[in-house]
Amino acid sequence: LKSYKIYRSDYALVCNDSFDIIKDACIVFDKNIIDIDTFENISKKYPNENIDYQGTNSVIMPGLINPHVHLEFSKNKTTLEYGNFISWLNSVIANREELIEGVDSKFLQIVLKKILKTGTTCIGAVSSYGFEFDACKKSPVKTVIFSEVIGSKAAMCDMLFDDFSQRVEQSIKLKDDKFIPAIAIHSPYSVHPILIKRALQKANDNDFVVSAHFMESSDEKEWLYKSSGNFKPFFENFLNQSNSLQTPEEFLNIFDNTKNCSFVHSVNASKEHLEKIKSKNHSIITCPVSNRVLTNSKLNIDNCDNINLAIATDGLSSNFSLSMFDELRSALMIHENKEPNDFAKELLKMATINGAKVLNLNNGSLETNKSADFLVCDFDSLLNENSIALMTILHTKYPKKVLIDGVEF
Ligand SMILES: [Zn+2]
Repeated sequence: LKSYKIYRSDYALVCNDSFDIIKDACIVFDKNIIDIDTFENISKKYPNENIDYQGTNSVIMPGLINPHVHLEFSKNKTTLEYGNFISWLNSVIANREELIEGVDSKFLQIVLKKILKTGTTCIGAVSSYGFEFDACKKSPVKTVIFSEVIGSKAAMCDMLFDDFSQRVEQSIKLKDDKFIPAIAIHSPYSVHPILIKRALQKANDNDFVVSAHFMESSDEKEWLYKSSGNFKPFFENFLNQSNSLQTPEEFLNIFDNTKNCSFVHSVNASKEHLEKIKSKNHSIITCPVSNRVLTNSKLNIDNCDNINLAIATDGLSSNFSLSMFDELRSALMIHENKEPNDFAKELLKMATINGAKVLNLNNGSLETNKSADFLVCDFDSLLNENSIALMTILHTKYPKKVLIDGVEF
């Protein structure tokens, strides 16, 4: 008894590095992709099989990967202040209790259902408390769960590390193919170097992927280099701390011997920081909407050549949507200097294969032996191959079908 299926579509966006498009494509899959080729070749190779045509102007593409989201802030709509990082941070602190109230497993299951419906098959969820574990475990969406460590006081390091370790151990107990433990370092301004070293040791010991916010605002840059600027009153008032813990260079150096690291935002990273990130094969995750609304800034993508660059929504604490298609549409508009058709292809790679590299997962492109995590989209008409990526981003709100490990949800 065979257990595989064959779908035929007018086009398949492979989302490999060269952004290949297969016209009149067939994908043979069970849990994994067994074969992908033209209808002509597949129908010869599998002569007696039932081939399920997905319709005129159908497009098959990999499921989207959102490698950086804070689910705990999923209740926020209009509570937080935007436009300035410190004002935002103060509004988060002032409204924290209210924001996380009612963010329980049941609520997060609904959030994850929406994420799935909008074509995201895989997320990297940053977790401060662990209260999204249950919802992520129950969802078909594949979750890399980043237990986050934060704390700048040397005297608190032992206590904070113990708390962090407990959350990591809890995630390890729940580990399966769709729930993968990982580690997040909050940022260079908020985590003591001792704590970072101990957390990275844990990541190295367990082969976890690692992520950290980095150079999100110009205030962060000023604080890290000069211990001055808008961060200063914040640190003095809340933490009785008047000097930065480390420079960005010292921070990046700590990650030298850790594999699979990604740095989120990096909009204020210098050419030297980007060189360092590239030389260590680390990745960058850009969150265009979050950067636009919090600090009115954007990553200079042209400076990120040869760095693995992924795209994410960040949390609803700094976005209006957790749909990756919404994020891709926004990214097209925010990066107004990029040629739309070519940039759309780059964006789809950022949202698929590059995200898979960040999370170290075996998906993100339609290639043999990868997980059968893919979408079927359909359109009224399709002009030509060159415009498919752009049209897919502009016109997909909900894909017609979303499959994870070959199962339709
Ligand atoms: Zn974030």
